[in-house]
Amino acid sequence: MIMPTQLDHWRQGTGHTRFRNKLNGLADMTHAEVHRSHRTGWLRAAVLGANDGIVSTASLIIGVAAANSTREGILVAGVAGLVAGAMSMAAGEYVSVSSQADTEKADLVLESQSLKDNLESEQQELADIYQDRGVEPRLSQQVAEQLMAHDALGAHARDEIGIMSQGNARPVQAALSSAAAFTIGAALPLMVAWVVPVDLLIMAVALSSLVFLAVLGAISARAGGAPMLLATVRVTFWGALAMAITAGVGSLFGVAA
Ligand SMILES: [Zn+2]
Repeated sequence: MIMPTQLDHWRQGTGHTRFRNKLNGLADMTHAEVHRSHRTGWLRAAVLGANDGIVSTASLIIGVAAANSTREGILVAGVAGLVAGAMSMAAGEYVSVSSQADTEKADLVLESQSLKDNLESEQQELADIYQDRGVEPRLSQQVAEQLMAHDALGAHARDEIGIMSQGNARPVQAALSSAAAFTIGAALPLMVAWVVPVDLLIMAVALSSLVFLAVLGAISARAGGAPMLLATVRVTFWGALAMAITAGVGSLFGVAA
Protein backbone atom coordinates (compact mmCIF):
# COMPACT_ATOMS: atom_id res chain seq x y z
CA MET A 1 0.00 0.00 0.00
CA ILE A 2 1.00 3.65 -0.24
CA MET A 3 1.94 5.30 3.04
CA PRO A 4 0.48 8.77 3.74
CA THR A 5 3.97 10.29 4.12
CA GLN A 6 4.96 8.95 0.75
CA LEU A 7 1.87 10.53 -0.71
CA ASP A 8 2.66 13.89 0.87
CA HIS A 9 6.12 13.72 -0.58
CA TRP A 10 4.73 12.84 -3.94
CA ARG A 11 2.11 15.55 -3.80
CA GLN A 12 4.69 18.24 -3.11
CA GLY A 13 6.65 16.99 -6.08
CA THR A 14 3.88 17.74 -8.57
CA GLY A 15 2.26 21.07 -9.29
CA HIS A 16 -0.37 19.61 -11.57
CA THR A 17 -3.74 20.24 -9.94
CA ARG A 18 -5.71 17.48 -11.60
CA PHE A 19 -3.05 14.95 -10.72
CA ARG A 20 -2.94 16.29 -7.19
CA ASN A 21 -6.70 15.93 -6.81
CA LYS A 22 -6.45 12.40 -7.99
CA LEU A 23 -3.80 11.75 -5.37
CA ASN A 24 -5.94 13.36 -2.68
CA GLY A 25 -8.69 10.93 -3.58
CA LEU A 26 -6.20 8.10 -3.33
CA ALA A 27 -5.09 9.33 0.09
CA ASP A 28 -8.68 9.31 1.30
CA MET A 29 -9.04 5.76 0.08
CA THR A 30 -5.92 4.53 1.83
CA HIS A 31 -6.81 6.27 5.09
CA ALA A 32 -9.30 3.51 5.82
CA GLU A 33 -6.43 1.10 6.37
CA VAL A 34 -3.83 1.74 9.06
CA HIS A 35 -0.99 -0.72 9.46
CA ARG A 36 0.54 -1.11 12.87
CA SER A 37 3.31 -3.62 12.39
CA HIS A 38 5.91 -0.86 12.61
CA ARG A 39 4.87 -0.43 16.23
CA THR A 40 5.82 -3.96 17.25
CA GLY A 41 9.39 -3.01 18.26
CA TRP A 42 8.75 -0.51 21.03
CA LEU A 43 5.37 -2.00 21.82
CA ARG A 44 6.95 -5.39 22.42
CA ALA A 45 9.60 -3.87 24.70
CA ALA A 46 7.09 -1.80 26.70
CA VAL A 47 4.61 -4.64 27.12
CA LEU A 48 7.36 -7.09 28.02
CA GLY A 49 8.76 -4.69 30.63
CA ALA A 50 5.42 -3.89 32.25
CA ASN A 51 4.28 -7.51 32.14
CA ASP A 52 7.54 -8.64 33.69
CA GLY A 53 7.28 -5.95 36.39
CA ILE A 54 3.77 -6.97 37.39
CA VAL A 55 4.33 -10.72 37.32
CA SER A 56 7.73 -10.89 38.99
CA THR A 57 6.95 -8.34 41.72
CA ALA A 58 3.50 -9.75 42.48
CA SER A 59 4.95 -13.28 42.58
CA LEU A 60 7.78 -12.13 44.84
CA ILE A 61 5.37 -10.37 47.20
CA ILE A 62 3.03 -13.37 47.29
CA GLY A 63 5.89 -15.82 47.82
CA VAL A 64 7.34 -13.80 50.71
CA ALA A 65 3.89 -13.21 52.22
CA ALA A 66 3.04 -16.93 51.96
CA ALA A 67 6.10 -17.63 54.10
CA ASN A 68 4.41 -15.62 56.92
CA SER A 69 6.57 -12.49 56.74
CA THR A 70 5.73 -9.11 58.24
CA ARG A 71 4.51 -6.33 55.97
CA GLU A 72 7.87 -4.63 56.36
CA GLY A 73 9.68 -7.74 55.15
CA ILE A 74 7.25 -8.11 52.26
CA LEU A 75 7.70 -4.48 51.17
CA VAL A 76 11.50 -4.63 51.42
CA ALA A 77 11.50 -7.74 49.23
CA GLY A 78 9.13 -6.03 46.78
CA VAL A 79 11.21 -2.85 46.48
CA ALA A 80 14.43 -4.85 46.09
CA GLY A 81 12.68 -6.88 43.38
CA LEU A 82 11.62 -3.69 41.61
CA VAL A 83 15.13 -2.23 41.58
CA ALA A 84 16.82 -5.52 40.64
CA GLY A 85 14.30 -6.18 37.89
CA ALA A 86 14.55 -2.69 36.40
CA MET A 87 18.36 -2.90 36.31
CA SER A 88 18.29 -6.35 34.80
CA MET A 89 15.79 -5.29 32.13
CA ALA A 90 17.94 -2.28 31.24
CA ALA A 91 21.12 -4.35 31.01
CA GLY A 92 19.45 -7.11 29.03
CA GLU A 93 17.84 -4.74 26.55
CA TYR A 94 21.06 -2.74 26.11
CA VAL A 95 23.11 -5.86 25.38
CA SER A 96 20.53 -7.35 23.07
CA VAL A 97 19.93 -4.18 21.02
CA SER A 98 23.65 -3.35 20.73
CA SER A 99 24.66 -6.85 19.72
CA GLN A 100 21.98 -6.92 17.04
CA ALA A 101 23.19 -3.53 15.79
CA ASP A 102 26.79 -4.78 15.74
CA THR A 103 25.81 -7.87 13.78
CA GLU A 104 23.91 -5.79 11.24
CA LYS A 105 26.76 -3.34 10.89
CA ALA A 106 29.27 -6.14 10.31
CA ASP A 107 26.94 -7.69 7.74
CA LEU A 108 26.67 -4.37 5.89
CA VAL A 109 30.45 -3.92 5.83
CA LEU A 110 30.78 -7.39 4.28
CA GLU A 111 28.05 -6.64 1.79
CA SER A 112 29.43 -3.28 0.68
CA GLN A 113 32.87 -4.85 0.19
CA SER A 114 31.30 -7.59 -1.90
CA LEU A 115 29.40 -4.98 -3.92
CA LYS A 116 32.74 -3.35 -4.71
CA ASP A 117 34.46 -6.63 -5.59
CA ASN A 118 31.79 -8.55 -7.48
CA LEU A 119 29.21 -6.11 -8.72
CA GLU A 120 27.90 -8.38 -11.48
CA SER A 121 27.35 -11.46 -9.39
CA GLU A 122 25.76 -9.29 -6.68
CA GLN A 123 23.27 -7.96 -9.20
CA GLN A 124 22.55 -11.51 -10.38
CA GLU A 125 22.10 -12.55 -6.75
CA LEU A 126 19.49 -9.84 -6.23
CA ALA A 127 17.72 -10.73 -9.49
CA ASP A 128 17.60 -14.38 -8.39
CA ILE A 129 15.97 -13.33 -5.14
CA TYR A 130 13.22 -11.48 -7.05
CA GLN A 131 12.78 -14.45 -9.38
CA ASP A 132 12.28 -16.70 -6.37
CA ARG A 133 9.59 -14.31 -5.21
CA GLY A 134 7.77 -14.65 -8.52
CA VAL A 135 9.18 -11.93 -10.78
CA GLU A 136 9.87 -12.92 -14.41
CA PRO A 137 13.60 -13.46 -15.20
CA ARG A 138 13.96 -10.49 -17.57
CA LEU A 139 12.02 -8.14 -15.32
CA SER A 140 13.92 -9.33 -12.25
CA GLN A 141 17.16 -8.26 -13.96
CA GLN A 142 15.70 -4.81 -14.64
CA VAL A 143 14.42 -4.45 -11.09
CA ALA A 144 17.79 -5.45 -9.65
CA GLU A 145 19.61 -3.07 -11.99
CA GLN A 146 17.37 -0.10 -11.22
CA LEU A 147 17.29 -0.67 -7.47
CA MET A 148 21.06 -0.99 -7.41
CA ALA A 149 21.51 2.16 -9.46
CA HIS A 150 19.38 3.93 -6.86
CA ASP A 151 20.90 2.45 -3.69
CA ALA A 152 22.86 -0.77 -4.09
CA LEU A 153 23.68 -1.39 -0.44
CA GLY A 154 20.14 -0.51 0.65
CA ALA A 155 18.63 -2.95 -1.84
CA HIS A 156 20.90 -5.78 -0.73
CA ALA A 157 20.42 -4.96 2.95
CA ARG A 158 16.65 -5.14 2.57
CA ASP A 159 16.09 -7.96 0.13
CA GLU A 160 19.10 -10.18 0.71
CA ILE A 161 19.95 -9.75 4.41
CA GLY A 162 16.55 -8.61 5.66
CA ILE A 163 17.69 -5.43 7.43
CA MET A 164 14.79 -3.03 7.05
CA SER A 165 16.13 0.20 8.54
CA GLN A 166 19.83 0.80 8.89
CA GLY A 167 21.24 2.60 11.89
CA ASN A 168 17.96 2.75 13.78
CA ALA A 169 19.07 0.78 16.83
CA ARG A 170 19.14 2.87 20.02
CA PRO A 171 20.48 0.70 22.86
CA VAL A 172 20.38 3.39 25.58
CA GLN A 173 16.85 4.43 24.70
CA ALA A 174 15.76 0.78 24.63
CA ALA A 175 17.40 0.16 28.03
CA LEU A 176 15.80 3.20 29.67
CA SER A 177 12.34 2.55 28.30
CA SER A 178 12.26 -1.11 29.34
CA ALA A 179 13.51 -0.20 32.81
CA ALA A 180 10.76 2.45 33.03
CA ALA A 181 8.09 0.02 31.81
CA PHE A 182 9.25 -2.58 34.34
CA THR A 183 9.19 -0.01 37.17
CA ILE A 184 5.65 1.08 36.34
CA GLY A 185 4.50 -2.55 36.24
CA ALA A 186 6.28 -3.43 39.50
CA ALA A 187 4.91 -0.36 41.32
CA LEU A 188 1.31 -1.58 40.89
CA PRO A 189 1.37 -4.75 43.08
CA LEU A 190 3.78 -3.00 45.44
CA MET A 191 1.28 -0.20 46.09
CA VAL A 192 -1.47 -2.74 46.70
CA ALA A 193 0.75 -4.61 49.19
CA TRP A 194 1.45 -1.33 50.93
CA VAL A 195 -2.18 -0.33 51.53
CA VAL A 196 -4.23 -3.52 52.11
CA PRO A 197 -4.55 -5.29 55.51
CA VAL A 198 -1.86 -7.95 55.93
CA ASP A 199 -4.28 -10.86 56.25
CA LEU A 200 -5.81 -9.97 52.86
CA LEU A 201 -2.49 -9.19 51.20
CA ILE A 202 -1.98 -12.35 49.15
CA MET A 203 -5.51 -12.37 47.78
CA ALA A 204 -5.49 -8.62 47.07
CA VAL A 205 -2.10 -8.65 45.30
CA ALA A 206 -3.01 -11.73 43.25
CA LEU A 207 -6.41 -10.46 42.12
CA SER A 208 -5.35 -6.87 41.44
CA SER A 209 -2.32 -8.09 39.48
CA LEU A 210 -4.54 -10.25 37.29
CA VAL A 211 -6.65 -7.17 36.61
CA PHE A 212 -3.50 -5.12 35.81
CA LEU A 213 -2.32 -7.88 33.46
CA ALA A 214 -5.68 -8.07 31.73
CA VAL A 215 -5.70 -4.29 31.21
CA LEU A 216 -2.12 -4.42 29.90
CA GLY A 217 -3.05 -7.22 27.50
CA ALA A 218 -6.03 -5.23 26.24
CA ILE A 219 -4.01 -2.02 25.83
CA SER A 220 -1.23 -3.78 23.94
CA ALA A 221 -3.70 -5.52 21.65
CA ARG A 222 -5.43 -2.21 21.03
CA ALA A 223 -2.19 -0.40 20.24
CA GLY A 224 -1.03 -3.21 17.98
CA GLY A 225 -4.42 -3.67 16.31
CA ALA A 226 -4.54 -7.35 17.34
CA PRO A 227 -7.54 -9.30 18.70
CA MET A 228 -8.10 -8.05 22.27
CA LEU A 229 -9.59 -11.11 23.97
CA LEU A 230 -6.79 -13.42 22.90
CA ALA A 231 -4.04 -11.07 24.15
CA THR A 232 -5.84 -10.51 27.44
CA VAL A 233 -6.35 -14.22 28.11
CA ARG A 234 -2.75 -15.03 27.14
CA VAL A 235 -1.23 -12.40 29.43
CA THR A 236 -3.52 -13.22 32.37
CA PHE A 237 -2.99 -16.98 32.13
CA TRP A 238 0.81 -16.83 32.34
CA GLY A 239 0.67 -14.26 35.16
CA ALA A 240 -1.73 -16.44 37.18
CA LEU A 241 0.48 -19.48 36.68
CA ALA A 242 3.61 -17.62 37.84
CA MET A 243 1.91 -16.29 40.97
CA ALA A 244 0.41 -19.68 41.85
CA ILE A 245 3.79 -21.40 41.56
CA THR A 246 5.64 -18.83 43.71
CA ALA A 247 2.85 -18.85 46.29
CA GLY A 248 3.23 -22.63 46.49
CA VAL A 249 7.01 -22.44 46.84
CA GLY A 250 6.73 -19.62 49.40
CA SER A 251 4.31 -21.51 51.63
CA LEU A 252 6.46 -24.67 51.38
CA PHE A 253 9.47 -22.70 52.66
CA GLY A 254 7.33 -20.89 55.22
CA VAL A 255 6.26 -24.24 56.71
CA ALA A 256 9.82 -25.59 56.60
CA ALA A 257 11.35 -22.53 58.31
ZN1 LIG B 1 24.43 -9.09 -1.91
